[in-house]
Amino acid sequence: MKKFVSLVLLPFIMITLSSCASEKRVSRQSFAFDTVINITADKKDDAVISGALALCPEFENIFSRTKEGSELYKINNGEITALSDDMRAALEFSAEFSRMTDGAFDFTLAPLTELWNVNKRTVPPTDEEIQNALNMTGYEKFSLEPFDTGETRLDLGGVAKGYIADKLGGYFKEKGVDNVIIDLGGNVLLLGKYSVGIRDPFNPEKLFAKITVEDKSAVTSGAYQRFFEYNGERYHHILDPKTGRCAKSGIASVTVISPSSMHADALSTAIFVLGERALSLCDNFPDTDALIITEEGEVITTDNFAEKYSLQLM
Ligand code: ADP
Ligand code: MG
Repeated sequence: MKKFVSLVLLPFIMITLSSCASEKRVSRQSFAFDTVINITADKKDDAVISGALALCPEFENIFSRTKEGSELYKINNGEITALSDDMRAALEFSAEFSRMTDGAFDFTLAPLTELWNVNKRTVPPTDEEIQNALNMTGYEKFSLEPFDTGETRLDLGGVAKGYIADKLGGYFKEKGVDNVIIDLGGNVLLLGKYSVGIRDPFNPEKLFAKITVEDKSAVTSGAYQRFFEYNGERYHHILDPKTGRCAKSGIASVTVISPSSMHADALSTAIFVLGERALSLCDNFPDTDALIITEEGEVITTDNFAEKYSLQLM
């Protein structure tokens, strides 16, 4: 583990990208998974971008927790008997990763995420409401074979965007496209070599650091995008499954770099919940690293991060 000290103070993050490639580029946007999707590639590959964007509603019909009639919606309403291959793959990984993190990552949190509903809420739920929801969660209550969700309901918000980014990346590769930015609301997958800016969590106008990433995904989790404030306290969307409340581990943002966007997505959520001691979780995945910015503005990374990704602190 390596530590750097920097001088910033206050919360916000995002990933920005600057392509090293030619000016003959095109970006197309769409909206799904409650977030803006942005895909950038060479102009000659425009039709492939359209093909990839057309896949997004299909994935939304599988993984959306809120869309009526989606596969996940049906699972949570007890209407499902046979799983799609995509759902099965995402659930297999989620169950294994929940065990690996001893439940710091937990894909059965829907009773709690629905209760907190941070996009709509203005006042935190009561202790009793939290306890009641907590009683209905727990990855140990879930069984894939035979399929049984027990009394839980599933929320794949911590892993679905990564899973989908990997699928879209596979689609581009299949079509012979090897230079593309797939951005699902900050869940980024890059084919080709790019300079990636990590936004300053304390001053969103500014970049905090720059790194160079090639053929990998970069995913940031932070308490910045989805939250409400009450009595001067910020209530955000990443929950600690042990307490049923917002995770507080001293992290302002964590960025995970990995060949698998699904791994990066789940790891970023888990490290955000557990704090810097969880950096070693990266060792369980091939070629996977992370950079934490603490609430004190300190930077903590996995070994050799600076050399591997040409880290420049701004
Ligand atoms: P974002 O969706 O903003 O990219 P994350 O990847 O960190 O952020 O995922 C947060 C989402 O995952 C939440 O909106 C919620 O749906 C779900 N979630 C919240 N806390 C947890 C947790 N401890 N484990 C697994 N999923 C979680
Ligand atoms: Mg995540």
